[in-house]
Parts: sequence; structure tokens; C-alpha cells
Amino acid sequence: MALSGLDIYKLLPKTNCKKCGSPTCLAFAMKLAMKKATLSECPDITTEAKKALEESSRPPIALIKSGSADNAVKIGGETVLFRHEKTFYHQTAIAISVDDTLSDTALLARIKEIENISFERVGQHIAIDMIALVNKSSSGEKFLSALDKILANSKKAIILVSLDSKTMESALKKCQDRKPVVHAADSKNLKDMCAAAKVYKAPLALKAKNLEELDKLSQEAGSLGAEEIVLDPEFETLHKSLNDLTQIRRLSLKRNYRPFGFPVIIFIKNTDKYQAVIDSCTFIAKYAGIIVLDSIEEDVLLPIIAMRQNIYTDPQKPVTVEPKLYKFGSPDKNSPIMVTTNFSLTFYTVAPEIEASGHSAYLLVTDSEGMSVLTAWAAEKFTPEIISDTMKKIELESVVSHKKIIIPGYVAVLSGKLEDVSGWQVLVGPKEASGIPKYLKEVWK
Ligand code: SF4
Repeated sequence: MALSGLDIYKLLPKTNCKKCGSPTCLAFAMKLAMKKATLSECPDITTEAKKALEESSRPPIALIKSGSADNAVKIGGETVLFRHEKTFYHQTAIAISVDDTLSDTALLARIKEIENISFERVGQHIAIDMIALVNKSSSGEKFLSALDKILANSKKAIILVSLDSKTMESALKKCQDRKPVVHAADSKNLKDMCAAAKVYKAPLALKAKNLEELDKLSQEAGSLGAEEIVLDPEFETLHKSLNDLTQIRRLSLKRNYRPFGFPVIIFIKNTDKYQAVIDSCTFIAKYAGIIVLDSIEEDVLLPIIAMRQNIYTDPQKPVTVEPKLYKFGSPDKNSPIMVTTNFSLTFYTVAPEIEASGHSAYLLVTDSEGMSVLTAWAAEKFTPEIISDTMKKIELESVVSHKKIIIPGYVAVLSGKLEDVSGWQVLVGPKEASGIPKYLKEVWK
């Protein structure tokens, strides 16, 4: 938990010597609290005070990085219990498991399938983040051979799942540059796994059946020098795991309890695919840093990905599209022009309906600061003046030979004023986007 200016002041020398450039120690403490100064500016601070201040400035949940370059994954670093309090910063990474008992052909096919998973939703490209290689065979040789194939065919971040520290060390040698997550250290192999993770600078996952054991393991790992830790409170039931993850998040954020100040990994073990979706969505909301799934079926992944996208958007910054004139089909001088706002969900609701109509058309998107049509209208961000100014900026008169613009049916009330300020004829379109194909076919002339 961050210290207040007064808390920091208590740890300073209190000599008011001004060597830090501040007139008093209190003024310097206030600057430190506001992150406008650094501890090194006070030459007289004691080692104990420095240690205490550095410890208190550590984030309550560590930010852990895995993977490399464009495929890097960041988890943890969260600061709130509930998204609406501020925002969640680092979205839950989705990993798909691959086990080393698969034949070469089946293994390569699975890697290819994982690589090919790709969705487009509200303008964002979404793919799988990580591959979790599981040492199901218990053979070091098979594990390393499977790892070679993954490294040759995928650039994704990796989770190495084996309890054998020798196998883990050999695997780490092969892929240190990917900064794989080492999964896992338990009460039996902690020392060796810690040593391997330290040598190869890899995040270390700790696995235990209950929170008491996990707490003990985390404290021991800390004393062995492990700094990048991921917690695995092994999945048993949705109820138990939800309780575990909530306890971990509450203790780390509200009590600043350091042994639990790390992101969590959860392996979804439910064989019923729809229950696996429910489990995954629950852990995305509360509070997994990584979920590992066996399934690569679209009807499992799509709802999970949509849930993640919804939870990890900043509630203060709606997802937007660029305000401009969009073309659908091959519009010409006689094509209709519809107008809407730049809220991403609105755009991606309207756009497919225009496409589905088979009609070539323009869609004018105004800057409504990411609000939907009705909200923007109520907030005066979708007014006749704003629409008219956008029309002029885009030089709409030179785009078509008619002077007709179609507004959403929900804001029919804008039509009179918009006609006055723009000089264009305003047509009132359907209220719902689903009415667009029928409107363009039967009403537009
Ligand atoms: Fe106080 Fe240190 Fe600044 Fe001197 S240098 S005024 S002791 S904070």
C-alpha cells in the first residue's frame, strides 16, 4: 500500500538540511508521495528507511512478463478489486494445453490449430496468447522433443508444465529467450525449481492444494530469491477456486500481503465444455492472470474471449472507431449516406447490417467521444451542429450528387434542426440497426 506524505516523513532524517533541493524534510516527503522526487535525492537517508520506503512503493500485485517481442504477455499489476473502481490493466492471458504424449503428426496439427485461432471483434484482432506444454508422458525426452516442435512452429509465449526439475532445466536451456513460465514448484521440488527459474530468469509458478500451503510456498520461494512468481491454487471446484482467487486478490490489495502479491494461473479442468466456458469467464472476472484450456473449439473460445474483451476495456474510455466516412460495397454519387456515432459497438452493429443489405452505401461516423447514439444525443455529443460540421469537414457535397442524409430513428428529433444547419434533406432511418437492410431496399430512393 502506498505510504502517505506523513508516513514517509517519519522515515526521513528530519534535519531540514535542504541537500535534496526541498526546503524541509516534510516538503521532500510530500514530493515523494506524489512521485515527483526519488529517494536518491536525499543523501542522508538511512539504509533501513530506504528499504522500508522501497518495499512500500512496490505494487501490491507484481507485474509478470513472459514471452518475447510481439508475443510478450503481461499479467498482474492490478490495483483494484472491481473494474468499475478504476480499470483492470493486464488482461487474462489465454493458454491452450498441448501434451507430450501426442504423436508428431498430432502435435504439429494441434500447434497449427492454435496458431490459426484468430477472431475479429469490435475492430480488435484476437488470438491465443500462450501454449502450455504438459509433461504428461513423464519422459524428459518426449517433453523436450515436443518443445522443439513448438519452438519451430510457434512464436507464442510458453508455459512449461513439469514437476521434474532436471527436465525443466533442459527445457529452459532451449527457450530462455521466450521467458517461459515454469510450472510448477511444489513442496517437494521447490528448491531445485527456484534455482532453475533464477538461473534462466523465468517466472516461477507455485502450486499447492490450499491457500495455507500456497502461502508457505510463496514465503519460502521469496526467501530462496524468487521474485517473479505466479500462484496456482489448484483448481478443484468453481466454488472453491473462486473463493481462493478472491482471498488472494483481497489479501494482496487490501492487506498488502506480499506472499499473495502475484498473479494467478488456473488450469480449467472441466470436461463439460459449457461448464468450462462458465469457469473460464468466472476466472476472467475474478481474478486469473492466466487460464489454461484444453479446448480449441470456437464455441468455447468465442464467449471466453468476448468476456475478456468486455472486462478488460477501460470503463472510462469506451472503445471507439475513427470518425470518418466509411464505404460499403462500391458506392457512387447516388448512394445513400447514413450517419452514426463512433462508439465501437454501435459501428460494428450498424456496419454488418449495411453489408448484409447488399446495397452500396456510405456511413458517416461522427466523433461522439465513444458514446452510443442515444447516450451521445443526451450528452450533446451527437447534435445537429456536430453532424453538420462533420459533413462539411468531410466535404460530403463532393461525394454524392444528392443532398440527403439518413439519421438513426432514435434521434428523429434532430431532423428539423439538422436540415436548418446543414441545408440537406434529413431522412429518418430505422431505430434498430437490424432494420437497415429493409430500409435501404424499400424506403431509400
Ligand atoms: Fe531532509 Fe534529506 Fe532533504 Fe535533508 S536531504 S532536507 S534530510 S529529506
